[in-house]
Amino acid sequence: MDCIFCAIIRGEIPSKKLYEDEAVYSFADINPQAPVHALVVPKKHIPSADAINGENADEVKKIFCAIPKIAASLGLKNGYRVITNVGEDGCQSVKHIHFHVLGGAKLPENMGV
Ligand code: AMP
Repeated sequence: MDCIFCAIIRGEIPSKKLYEDEAVYSFADINPQAPVHALVVPKKHIPSADAINGENADEVKKIFCAIPKIAASLGLKNGYRVITNVGEDGCQSVKHIHFHVLGGAKLPENMGV
């Protein structure tokens, strides 16, 4: 499968690793939108949040168990934002579910159009 995040997880494309366990991989976003911008992905390929179901929800659970550890390791003591973009209107550019963890400064309140 031609998926850039699967290739990153396999180590075929370099990334700045921030966290890894048996199910989750986290790395620095190549185009940061905040002073701290991590991506958190499941090692198992899931196309987007719209594809979460009873069969794969455990992978998402593992992501959300990892996020507080990743945030702590990045020094995000004062809070942070977790975002997942879905599909065309959500401006999802990589079709492997990923959670943006943004922080390191007060973020803008507005998240919509
Ligand atoms: P989205 O637009 O929500 O699909 O987010 C995809 C994110 O992946 C963007 O923030 C990109 O900057 C990021 N990205 C794309 N390719 C890479 C890469 N090779 N290494 C790190 N981040 C990447």
